[in-house]
Amino acid sequence: MNHLLILGTDTDVGKTTFALLYLAAFATRWEYWKPVESGASDSQLVQRLLPEVHVHPPVKRVPQPLAPPLAARLAGEVIPSPAALAAACPTPTAPQRCLLIETFGSPFSPLTDTDLQLRLVERLPAAKVLVSSSRLGAIGRTLACLEALDRYGQLPQIVVLLGPRDDYAAEQIGRHGRGVPVLSLEMPASWDTPGIRQAAEAQRATLEQVVVLATPPALRSAVEDRTAVLHAQDRALLWHPYTSLREADPPLACVAAQDEFLWLADGRRVIDAISSWWTILHGHRHPVLMQALHRASQEIDHVLFAGVTHPWAVALAERLLATAPWQGGRVFYSDNGSTAVEVALKMAYQFWCHRGEPQRTLFIGFEHGYHGDTFGAMSASRDPVFFGWFEPLLFRSQILPLDAEVLEETLQRHRGEVAAIILEPLVQGAGGMRLHAPALLRDLAAVAAQQQVLFIADEVLTGGGRFGPLWTHQEAGVVPDLICAAKTLTGGILPLAATLAAPHIVAAFDSDDRRRTFFHGHSYTAQPLACAVALANWELLPQVIPAAPRRLEAFWQQALEPLRRLPQVRDLRIKGSLAAIELNDPGGYLAEVGRHLRRFCLQQGVFLRPLGNVLYALPPLGIADSSLEQLAEVLRRAVASCQQFI
Ligand code: PMP
Repeated sequence: MNHLLILGTDTDVGKTTFALLYLAAFATRWEYWKPVESGASDSQLVQRLLPEVHVHPPVKRVPQPLAPPLAARLAGEVIPSPAALAAACPTPTAPQRCLLIETFGSPFSPLTDTDLQLRLVERLPAAKVLVSSSRLGAIGRTLACLEALDRYGQLPQIVVLLGPRDDYAAEQIGRHGRGVPVLSLEMPASWDTPGIRQAAEAQRATLEQVVVLATPPALRSAVEDRTAVLHAQDRALLWHPYTSLREADPPLACVAAQDEFLWLADGRRVIDAISSWWTILHGHRHPVLMQALHRASQEIDHVLFAGVTHPWAVALAERLLATAPWQGGRVFYSDNGSTAVEVALKMAYQFWCHRGEPQRTLFIGFEHGYHGDTFGAMSASRDPVFFGWFEPLLFRSQILPLDAEVLEETLQRHRGEVAAIILEPLVQGAGGMRLHAPALLRDLAAVAAQQQVLFIADEVLTGGGRFGPLWTHQEAGVVPDLICAAKTLTGGILPLAATLAAPHIVAAFDSDDRRRTFFHGHSYTAQPLACAVALANWELLPQVIPAAPRRLEAFWQQALEPLRRLPQVRDLRIKGSLAAIELNDPGGYLAEVGRHLRRFCLQQGVFLRPLGNVLYALPPLGIADSSLEQLAEVLRRAVASCQQFI
């Protein structure tokens, strides 16, 4: 068991403060237990200040603020024996979680009338941190305690000096304290939840060092073994997306996620700088969304959507349509970006069939466009690297440069043959995070309208406010006929997609003739739990958009603008939460520099997946300032590191 036991050199040195800072930083992996408490309850304090933490109840609580055995005697009670207390050690609520166990007073304080607390310490299978106050006398007090603990074979893995920073004391304890490493932590500025969270965030790097140093070497190898076992099993059993079966770099063994972070099986924490393939909108496990999931799961799991409806699907559709550029229209649900696109393509074609123009079998896509991996989506993208193998199987489309005149000329040449154009508004994602101007989008949409072909806005990446407005097409003031949404619809928590159809599209299907039905559906169409989470997300969005993407855009501009001048940088593209750096490497998506950049950034605690020679970050909107700074620094270093490739 990889628990951590908090010892103190004395009473009132900051054990609970340390616990609060530690739990504020790592609430998803650590649970709190104080087996014995006297006086004001630390368990209650922890629960009040950090409600997200799982607090296990004490075994014995005595109200008087005295030594526990004395307080118990005065109350006519007894403190259980060290063996009984150790046997009552709770099991964490999930396999990845550990206990942070707080002791009272010092290890040499009496626990019962016959035993010191040391006897309990000996029985608890945990690494130990000795907390000492940095106030006057810190050196002698701490060294004496270390000396005594060593005599009983209970030397802690780490000393934490709590309070105003005293580098001299830390140095002296480090020198004379039996080789135990010493770290310093400062008190929170205020004794409330924001104060504690702020102090934990500001000192996260030190708190992480505590985790690493407190993991005993024996357990360290167990942790490494766990990663190795996962990798071996993964290699034998699994096939990963967009990954060669001979990929040299093993996948990250991810065991937990919270906010902008992923936790790995080897104990590392990395920044999820591309929001898990652009899905995680606010941050991992956003409390409002997790609550919505929990609430809905008390009422329903799944139900088919043919011949059935449910309140979550209805409420979400109402919410989504209220943001569409038309009055009316309908929502067709599916479960990922490719299916949202597939639905739009099929609806567009069938629309023309109902209008008596079945010869409109041609779709227009654009260079560097990407719309998903199903056959319709591949046909409308036709990327030779991604889809080259399937070329003989794809249906008719033309891929044009992003140019209104070329579009006009093509539509005139193919008059009456084209069903729709499909485009990612303003940001083409997988094709290299390329931006185009709202004026160009306006011109393209105007040509499509004038030539009477449908306009499908693929907002699978751009919907949900990452780049500013709720829908990116709004920035250009254009009116698509069909809008595809997926990735961020649920804030990234569950898979869900929606294709929004304008009223005139719907009208073409509104018929007594049953052959005119839109015969399409999936087992998980309108999955209720996903709809419930998406509804909570869309209720949250107005509080976040557009301030959150603007904050990130302003940060990127000041942090990365100097990169533009470097010879290895071809272009820097910033929009909302996106920062993309295109390097002067002709290799494209398969460029070796991409692999180098991925490895380099991972070593520095940042998980990225460059698109070949395009290094980009698209972090969750709620990313903390400190993580943003770290991310920008890693991007700058990564760019500096790739001169050898260019
Ligand atoms: N459209 C766009 C613009 C996308 O970026 C993607 C995925 N990257 C898709 C469609 C396909 O989405 P999914 O991976 O959920 O099928």
